[in-house]
Amino acid sequence: MTYSYQWFSAPKEISIVCPVCQKEALFQFASVFHVEKKQDRIFFETHPAFETTTVYDSYTYTHKFCVIFYPALNSNPELKNFLECHKGLDNSVSHLIKDKGVVFCPSCLLKRKHILNWPQEAYYCIDYKGQLLWAFHRPAFVSIYDYIQAKIRDRHVAGHFIYLLHIPSHFLTQHARAEVSKKMRRLLLRV
Ligand SMILES: [Zn+2]
Repeated sequence: MTYSYQWFSAPKEISIVCPVCQKEALFQFASVFHVEKKQDRIFFETHPAFETTTVYDSYTYTHKFCVIFYPALNSNPELKNFLECHKGLDNSVSHLIKDKGVVFCPSCLLKRKHILNWPQEAYYCIDYKGQLLWAFHRPAFVSIYDYIQAKIRDRHVAGHFIYLLHIPSHFLTQHARAEVSKKMRRLLLRV
């Protein structure tokens, strides 16, 4: 699937392979926001709950001071209140940092910061002749499976329309159908 599609439609949480036990785990993207005023930056630079970095934004041709926050690792209500009070912060910069977040694994109870390697770490992912067919989570993968299997393919009927629009033709040929379906079914039946 295409790179731009990937981030345009990414939900806040996606399924990945647990880096410790290899079972299905959840990855929650970090919150990323931009702080414009220099005098406001010192708070974030010195507070242990935040990471800060400066990133070049190729859309605006400017460098942006970005703050990275991990809600899942910070349940402090004062901090949440603070962020509520600063909703004016520009949070339209999540496209600049797309790989930071937290991994949770219900099998081995792993919970820690994680740098995402996508789509190589996607849990719902199969390889067909050197190309990866992936989905962000199980419901989307099921929709893709139903769509590939269907004799008459209707994107609207199958659900998850946006996902189905971006399946490369590599996986949709008559020749590919049986093997792709088999690999997807095997993954869906894995416990
Ligand atoms: Zn695990």
